[in-house]
Amino acid sequence: MGVAYTINCKQCSYNQNVSLGIGFNYLDLKSILEWYQQEEGRQQILKYMNEEDTSFECYDGLYVCQQCGYLLNRTFLHITSKDYSYTNNFECPCCHMQMPKKPLLDEIEENFLKCPDCKDEELEIQAYLDWD
Ligand SMILES: [Zn+2]
Ligand SMILES: [Zn+2]
Repeated sequence: MGVAYTINCKQCSYNQNVSLGIGFNYLDLKSILEWYQQEEGRQQILKYMNEEDTSFECYDGLYVCQQCGYLLNRTFLHITSKDYSYTNNFECPCCHMQMPKKPLLDEIEENFLKCPDCKDEELEIQAYLDWD
């Protein structure tokens, strides 16, 4: 199950809703393929979904740009097979740096994220909804 959060800054007008975690259609690669959009990842799913010894992690997370602080809500996908592993990756839409390999998940409230706009205030993060 996933949780939706609202994130806002008390200082400026920055605010964003993010949804983190997993939904019912995140539980096997075949269902992920039905909604997953990035072409590279789709190829990987097609290649590995019928193989044995494959495991994967897939959830919606929050990528925090280490250069400019931009917050990007995207799906993390990691597939491991016997002698191979794939991790999707994103670049920051704002400064084009490579985002960290892994996004934040449940721990976002303890991470004291800084506002990406005014860089000043710590963001307020509140869970407001459980999604499937
Ligand atoms: Zn950035
Ligand atoms: Zn701000």
